[in-house]
Amino acid sequence: MSNLEEAKNKINLLDYIKNHTNSEIKKVGSGKYRANPCPKCNGKDHFTIYDNSNSYSSFNECCKGGTIIDYLKEVENYTEEEAYKKTYELAGMEYTRTNKNNNSIHTKKNNIDNKGDKNDEVSKFNLRRYVWRSK
Ligand SMILES: [Zn+2]
Repeated sequence: MSNLEEAKNKINLLDYIKNHTNSEIKKVGSGKYRANPCPKCNGKDHFTIYDNSNSYSSFNECCKGGTIIDYLKEVENYTEEEAYKKTYELAGMEYTRTNKNNNSIHTKKNNIDNKGDKNDEVSKFNLRRYVWRSK
């Protein structure tokens, strides 16, 4: 199990939502709870929390559902990295940066793209020179 999985499992999503929203949480089935109004869109009767799988979903288009991480991102507007940090914090664990590589890959790709454009310009320039010379 990764550290992040461990952190996610330590947080009870149902309790978290109870403590961080003003929504009324009602049991609607075995391990199934409904939050009213929806913490995301304030709509009624669709935001559902599953205590057994520590997850949530919505029968509306307002959110996709998922784990505590998805909840922090979708409902509380955290960025991906902030959501990871917050999850570790809530679990009382030390945050270790796991997505360090994503940014550098992105930057590298941009560099290559830029170079490609420049090379095109250089070759157009050379071509023009060549045409001029051969006249
Ligand atoms: Zn909603």
